[in-house]
Amino acid sequence: MDKDNIDVKQFSGAEARCLCPFCDCGNDSGDVNGSRRGRLTASINETKGLFYCFRCEEGFNAVSLYARVYGVDVRVAYGELLDGFISGYT
Ligand SMILES: [Zn+2]
Repeated sequence: MDKDNIDVKQFSGAEARCLCPFCDCGNDSGDVNGSRRGRLTASINETKGLFYCFRCEEGFNAVSLYARVYGVDVRVAYGELLDGFISGYT
């Protein structure tokens, strides 16, 4: 198993588990409160398009996750996602 990739495991139905890209729970540099790397602390619900990390207790939908990853405002993220969606279908 390659630890450099985000490890996503199908959990049940539409729910998948992965390492949280924000709190670095896949990083081996230290154990915080006994939490070891390899724990899949984040939940992705594919049907609802929701992401939630149980460790840093951050929850995102598709738009706010995009905004966080790219460091832009939620409104900007929404616009860019919408532009991408429209241009992809014209
Ligand atoms: Zn997290």
